[in-house]
Amino acid sequence: NVRVRFAPSPTGPLHIGGVRTALFNYLFAKKHGGDFILRIEDTDQNRYVEGAEQYIINALNWCGMPFDEGVGKEGNFGPYRQSERKHIYKQYADQLITSGNAYYAFDTAEELDYHRKDHEAKGKTFIYNWHNRLKLNNSLSLSAEDVQAKLEAGQDYVIRFKSPQDQTLHLTDIIRGDIKIDSSVLDDKVLFKSDGMPTYHLANIVDDHLMQITHVIRGEEWLPSLALHYQLYQALDWETPEFAHLPLILKPTGKGKLSKRDGDKLGFPVFPLEWTDPKTQETSRGYKEDGYFPEAMVNFLAFLGWNPGTEQEIFSMEELIQAFDLNRVNKSGARFDPDKIKWFNHHYMQQQSNEALAIAFQQERSELAEIDINFIAIVIELIKERATFVSDFWDLSHFFFIAPETYDDKAVKKAFKEGTSDILNEVITQMDPIEDFTVETLQNTIKGWITSNNIGFGKVMMPLRLALVGALQGPDVFDIIFMIGKQESIKRIKNAIN
Ligand code: GLU
Repeated sequence: NVRVRFAPSPTGPLHIGGVRTALFNYLFAKKHGGDFILRIEDTDQNRYVEGAEQYIINALNWCGMPFDEGVGKEGNFGPYRQSERKHIYKQYADQLITSGNAYYAFDTAEELDYHRKDHEAKGKTFIYNWHNRLKLNNSLSLSAEDVQAKLEAGQDYVIRFKSPQDQTLHLTDIIRGDIKIDSSVLDDKVLFKSDGMPTYHLANIVDDHLMQITHVIRGEEWLPSLALHYQLYQALDWETPEFAHLPLILKPTGKGKLSKRDGDKLGFPVFPLEWTDPKTQETSRGYKEDGYFPEAMVNFLAFLGWNPGTEQEIFSMEELIQAFDLNRVNKSGARFDPDKIKWFNHHYMQQQSNEALAIAFQQERSELAEIDINFIAIVIELIKERATFVSDFWDLSHFFFIAPETYDDKAVKKAFKEGTSDILNEVITQMDPIEDFTVETLQNTIKGWITSNNIGFGKVMMPLRLALVGALQGPDVFDIIFMIGKQESIKRIKNAIN
């Protein structure tokens, strides 16, 4: 049974890279009929940010990737917040000490700093491992009595993993294939601290084991931790899950990793939902609030590092689940293209019902408060092909709701010539008596009149459009006349003539 987890740390809002990681986990789980678990990795209390956890849950829900187990949806492997699992980790750190795979270290921050600087001065890098271990302040260099005494005296300690000096580690990653690492370059990572808290590494692999995670799918930034994680599984005599490290997401220029700060700088959101920092009260834009449909964001994110191997670009969540394959995820970084997500949004806009869009539009514009929702829905049908966002609607359609107050100067020069007033007056004369006021009769009457009098379409249609819209754009003129009605149309034409 496939079980995967998304394991964010609640240190701030989930950025687009985190959402992509969650999405690939979700797709993989659903493809294999497995479980998608949300685990909150909050062992680092210093970096805990109020509201971040709820934000993560809201973001997953908005994207349409509900988790099967996790915070607030307790399953058989809870609790799902690491801060509530504190009591679980120490025994494994102890087990690693007993088996000789880990040791106590008592070095103070000042001591470590001293060694770092001392090495630097000699042009070397300080690594806490077999190079230096025996010269430092730990249970491998001290006598058993000394260690006991320090522990009893309540001295601060950490528990470090004892990285072997001379092994070639063979790691496997689904996306990157086989990786060989020389263990002698690894440092002895801290697993546990005397404040009773495990570090990310220990908590992460203990929980993955206890939660029976079969596949670890996460960002490339965790690849350097893979060797340690492999060794921990081995040292604890646990089965190692399979790993897949997703490629970096690159800036739109293709150079460098897209960062949380890039959004504000480059003019597009990097967060799924708007976020207000609880400390600074600064607000960052979100895709939702910027008018994107979750389907557009999901479809876009799916292509950041993955492709189906066909020409198909539009995928519903169901189709993504069917098509998704970790073997088709690339190693190389994926360029983030903010225009591409707009393209998806335009597509998904056309899929929305006119009624739903009408409601969203009405909520956005106070001018529409009193307008019949069915009328708005028909307007939307006429304009949505040219819209990417609901916020585009007003510019494309205001003339359906209010008469133009000004006319575009250039358009006036182009459309209003000598004789135009007479022509428009004649349009009124033609239009006024029509009883069966449909687009068809309107069109037949006006076009018939134009042809039989040999006037030229442009000479009529251009000024007519200008009178109704205030500019030379918009949907079909007869659709507009029909929608705003005979009396309003006549009024606007008369206004334009004067
Ligand atoms: N807590 C880690 C993070 O914030 C999880 C990394 C992993 O998936 O192992 O990304």
